[in-house]
Amino acid sequence: MAACNSSSICSSIRSPERIRHIHRPLSLISSSNVCLLRRDALSVSAGRMVACFASKDWALPRIAAGSAPAMVPAQQEAEARVSTVVEVGLGNRSYPIYIGSGLLDVPDLLQRHVAGKRVLVVTNTSIAPLYLERVVEALTNGNSNISVDSVILPDGEKYKNMETMMQVFDKAIKSRMDRRCTFVALGGGVIGDLCGFAAATYVRGVNFIQIPTTLMAQVDSSVGGKTGINHPHAKNMIGAFYQPQCVLIDTDTLNTLPDRELASGIAEIVKYGLIRDADFFEWQEKNMHALLARDPNALAYAIKRSCENKAEVVSLDEKESGLRATLNLGHTFGHAIEAGFGYGQWLHGEAVAAGMVMAVEMSYRLGWIDGTIVERVLNILKQAKLPTSPPEMMTVELFKAAMAVDKKVADGVLRLILLKGPIGGCVFTADFDQKALDDTLLAFCRR
Ligand code: NAD
Repeated sequence: MAACNSSSICSSIRSPERIRHIHRPLSLISSSNVCLLRRDALSVSAGRMVACFASKDWALPRIAAGSAPAMVPAQQEAEARVSTVVEVGLGNRSYPIYIGSGLLDVPDLLQRHVAGKRVLVVTNTSIAPLYLERVVEALTNGNSNISVDSVILPDGEKYKNMETMMQVFDKAIKSRMDRRCTFVALGGGVIGDLCGFAAATYVRGVNFIQIPTTLMAQVDSSVGGKTGINHPHAKNMIGAFYQPQCVLIDTDTLNTLPDRELASGIAEIVKYGLIRDADFFEWQEKNMHALLARDPNALAYAIKRSCENKAEVVSLDEKESGLRATLNLGHTFGHAIEAGFGYGQWLHGEAVAAGMVMAVEMSYRLGWIDGTIVERVLNILKQAKLPTSPPEMMTVELFKAAMAVDKKVADGVLRLILLKGPIGGCVFTADFDQKALDDTLLAFCRR
């Protein structure tokens, strides 16, 4: 068991065996996975996951949901098309992540999660021409009871705000959507976050489904129920934890994704390796060329493994009391770049990539990791054609101003996710030498 001090949370996972139970055919999902819990430490029986919580008792949810229902033919056909199901285990709010090729053409996967008869698809001007018709078809095929409306929002991070969310409410009210309606987010992380927050607040909460179409959304934002919008001075500052009914990942949608957006998603994939999954990081080092070449098998594996990592963390710490914060490696620096540079100037994953390099560099300055890790992080991000330093206009002052309003500030004290030990180990802590942070900012900023 790794040692943790009282103000930090650390996690490390080394074994791929621990997650095998999550990816199995849908019909085999059972309630047989047992989680062990004891004060100051917990472990998952299937593997060697270690997480230390120094000051709290934790209630641990089960990883998998209930036993398989009897299937009708449409369900059987649907399940034959799904190559992987990752279960997010949150008790009675557990839900499946379906991952596979061509899933947009499998009506039953969506229809089984629609509550009531009314659906509002929320998407944007770029994605609507590509996929809206197919999603409406999937929602209604063979089911004349369901009626679908859609709202097509402007495209871009700069529209992830209250004004755009109002357009969703306007459409929902105009279409007389009631409590039993379902919102469907069709798009990348911006649409998913905004639609999820709209679903969380419309008539105090309606069902929603995530259909993520960017790599970023498929490996990260659609999973775990963090929803929200930006404030002009602070990213994702207004929002809610609100879980979807399901996440449907059709990996074929990545075929239309621009290269730069693909690389942006790879930043979050690298993150999982660094914070908790050394084997996955090594796999990425060997397979980055395949990911960039959009090899379907490599992408499917990276999506599955990322979702497994995220599902596991979310099921242990849904509301980010500690462990979940480790998913934000590099994000405090990255969010400062996004807010300081202007939303949408750099893609989220690009800002996170530069932010991760800063966090890794700071970890090295603290003496918590050795120099080879810094080199490996730089190499893998460069290979993915991601930035490894912030934009030139970023100043120490801009970083500090944005970091002061970071969501991980508690009682005025900044907490950061930093690497510690070999790859796969990290801490979420306020217990670091301020000079290491100052020196890191100075090293990456011109002024
Ligand atoms: P995005 O939603 O802006 O999508 C990127 C671009 O790709 C957009 O122009 C979009 O229209 C386009 N697009 C989407 N799918 C496409 C497809 N299949 N083919 C062609 N074009 C397509 O950006 P993103 O990178 O998906 O998400 C970034 C957002 O996600 C940020 O706001 C970030 O804060 C948020 N996020 C949230 C979480 C979370 O846990 N909720 C986690 C990570 C990121």
